[in-house]
Formats: sequence, C-alpha cells, structure tokens
Amino acid sequence: MRYISTRGQAPALNFEDVLLAGLASDGGLYVPENLPRFTQEEIASWAGLPYHELAFNVMRPFVAGSIADADFKAILKDTYGVFAHNAVAPLRQLDANEWVMELFHGPTLAFKDFALQLLGRLLDHFLTKRGERAVILGATSGDTGSAAIEGCRRCESVDIFILHPHNRVSEVQRRQMTTILGDNIHNIAIEGNFDDCQEMVKASFADQGFLKGNRLVAVNSINWARIMAQIVYYFHAALQLGGPQRSMAFSVPTGNFGDIFAGYLARNMGLPISQLVVATNRNDILHRFMSGNRYDKDTLHPSLSPSMDIMVSSNFERLLFDLHGRNGALVKELMDNFKQTGKLTVEDERWTEARRLFDSLAVDDAATCATIADVYRDCGELLDPHTAIGVRAARECRRSMATPMITLGTAHPVKFPEAVRKAQVEEPHLPAHLADLFERAERCSVLPNSLTDIQQFVAAHGNRGKPL
Ligand SMILES: *Cc1c(COP(=O)(O)O)cnc(C)c1O
Repeated sequence: MRYISTRGQAPALNFEDVLLAGLASDGGLYVPENLPRFTQEEIASWAGLPYHELAFNVMRPFVAGSIADADFKAILKDTYGVFAHNAVAPLRQLDANEWVMELFHGPTLAFKDFALQLLGRLLDHFLTKRGERAVILGATSGDTGSAAIEGCRRCESVDIFILHPHNRVSEVQRRQMTTILGDNIHNIAIEGNFDDCQEMVKASFADQGFLKGNRLVAVNSINWARIMAQIVYYFHAALQLGGPQRSMAFSVPTGNFGDIFAGYLARNMGLPISQLVVATNRNDILHRFMSGNRYDKDTLHPSLSPSMDIMVSSNFERLLFDLHGRNGALVKELMDNFKQTGKLTVEDERWTEARRLFDSLAVDDAATCATIADVYRDCGELLDPHTAIGVRAARECRRSMATPMITLGTAHPVKFPEAVRKAQVEEPHLPAHLADLFERAERCSVLPNSLTDIQQFVAAHGNRGKPL
C-alpha cells in the first residue's frame, strides 16, 4: 500500500514511513493511494471473530508490504488484549434500535486507546527492526496525552514527552499521565495554556536542531495509523447488529474529524452505512460547514466536553481532498488561503456532496446535561458528556427508526465528573483497574512557557532519562 499527501507535493510513502513521518513534507496529510474494498460476502464471513482477528482482516491491506502477517497478528492480539472488557467494544442498548458502542474499556478510559495502544507497538516494531530510537513530543488538553503515554510505556525504542497546561487538566486526566513512571516517560506541565503547548510542539517539528539528529514522531490524530485503527470498530458494530446484510447509522462526537472520518472510510470500503452524523459541541466549525458551507475559524469556547474544544479540525483536510477529486493542488490552495484568512468555502456541487455524506448537529452544554439526565432516567446508563452529544445528535438527526443507530461512546463518565454532576445523576466511579489512581505516586516537571526550556529539557532527558 502506498500513501499520498493531500497537498500533492510530498513523495508517496509506504506504511512504515507514513507511521514515522506523521505530517507530509508539503504540510499535507497522508491518505491511502487506493482504498481497499471488501465484498459483502467477505465482510459477512468475519461475523463472530474476536476483535483482534477482525482488526487484522480490516487493516491488513493498509500495512501490506510493511509488516509480516504473523507479526501484525501478534501485535493486534497483544494490543486489544489489554482492554478491560472481553468484547473490547461492547454495544449497549439505549432504546428500540438505538445503541452506544462503548469505546472506553482501554487503559485510559477513552477511545483514543484503540489507536494509541496499536501505534506504540507498531512504532516499537519498526524502530527495533531498524535499530533506531525516536522521541515523541505531543501536546494534550487531556485524553491524547494519557493514551499516548499508556501506548508507549513499554516501548524500548521510544522516549515520550507530553506537554499539558499546568493546573488546567482535570485531576483524573493528570493522574492518568503522571502516575505512569518510567525512564522513557516525561510529563511536562507548562505554565501556559493548551495553545502554548501546541505551538511549542509545532515549532519543535519545524526546527529539529535540538534533537541532535534523533527522529521526532507525531502522535496526534494527523498520524494515519490512528485513523486506520478506528475504522475497525465500525465493522465490529455492524457485524454485531446484523450487518452487512442490513445497513447501519452512526453518530460520532467529533472535534478533529478523526473518528468520523474513519467511519466515512469504512463506508467507502464496502460497509453499508446509511447515515453518518457529525456531532459537535459549541465549537461547531464542522457543523457550520455541513449546514452552511462555512468552514470559518472562530474563537475557542470552553465547554463541558473539553476533548472536542477545537477551533479547526485537523483531519477535515482529508475529506476536502476527496471532495476535490483528490486534486492536491486545489487542496493546497484552499488550505493556504484558509491559513491567511481563517475562512473556507467550497463550490456548491462539492458542498452538496458533503451534505449527502454527512448530517450534523451542534449541541450546547445545557442540552448535553439534559441528555445525560434523560438517558440515565430512561435506561440507567451513565453517559460522559462527549457521548451524550453523540446521542443527542443521533436522536435529532435520525432518518429511519428501522435502521440501527449507533453512537460512539468515546469516554467513560468518570473522566468528566463536572458534566455528570451538573446533570444531577449518580456520581461516576473509577473502574477496578484504576481504583487506586488517587493514591499512586506522580512524576511531572513544571516548566515555564518557553520553547528553549522545553527543548533543553528534551535534549537532557531524551535517551531513557539521559542526554541525547
Ligand atoms: C478526542 C476525543 C473526541 C474527538 O475525537 P476526534 O477524533 O478529534 O473527532 C471525542 N470524545 C473524546 C472523549 C475524546 O477524547
């Protein structure tokens, strides 16, 4: 499988190089040159497989030529073996033909574990084979950091540095990062906000002199391997509920357009999906595009669903690429213009196509809490605020009661107790494997909001705690 950039200028790469590269050299994002397509018979033959075996069948074409089948199978078995539920992604029924797929049984209680547990193991596999090491540098407002640290904690070839804004992530989220102790794990609390953290990561990718020739790897959702891993659970859900013989509808709480883009790919790969709902919070740039062809940058509105608090959606460029007939030059022009003006619209026929592909809804904090309360009252399920946004959008946008509607349950409610408290339902509890989280020892360095300080810190600790 070869991968090409959405801006058409960077060289085509194989899976291994795409995994290690993250962003393409022309500033674009990598996408498969040709998407694999499965027949209905093929998909139907996967019914009843354990999650890791289904994952192998769905992802095999994407890694073809880069990793041997036996190695990939072993990695997948190990990856999904750490999930705390045997079904890995169990479905819960909320109402007639309405479901939530629980994607929060991984080590950090959010769906990001599906991709980052795999990404860490794949990185280790390729780096060990090459006899190389790599430094991971990432910024987090909460969920990505803990999932990335958990995914890389046992990687011999990786040192991971995660920046978070000091005193601005929830205590559960902070402890999920800072209680993972290891020579190769470095939590840095920045005296600044999330944007400061992200800016410093970007600047470090742009100028890597401080790394003394060591490789820098990105783990945010622009990394293709993360999207790839998320395609699998759409097939999993459909196969549990009578697919591919019947079609499914999905509602996806989204910020960076990563998780929902995986659903769009699943449909293009042959899975019958009749409806894909983009569910956003007040930070609704995606809903504004889908409903009015205006992808315009707005200010940030902090919400009760902080993992979806974004101003721009980094994976949206991958959809633009398809909407423009995979013409990289056109996408480059749009993105360059967006960078300057903060505004983007597409031609009418392309926008009509986007509307055919997706429905959308923006859900505010009040409606989020009301949905948590409704669902708790009606079926005893406690939703986290992100999942509640998905359920609300599913209910408002649903086109057919005869088609199963599946909302992706992106996080465990215990990660976001503020919203649950506001909904005035029961207090969420930590699951057994994290029950002692508040007693565990923490390790974290607090650094000033200064690029030089961060880069010096990485250089001084980037080789299993020793200087690079
Ligand atoms: C990251 C995250 C999202 C948004 O996912 P995208 O891929 O950015 O759309 C939604 N909910 C939770 C709990 C998350 O952690």
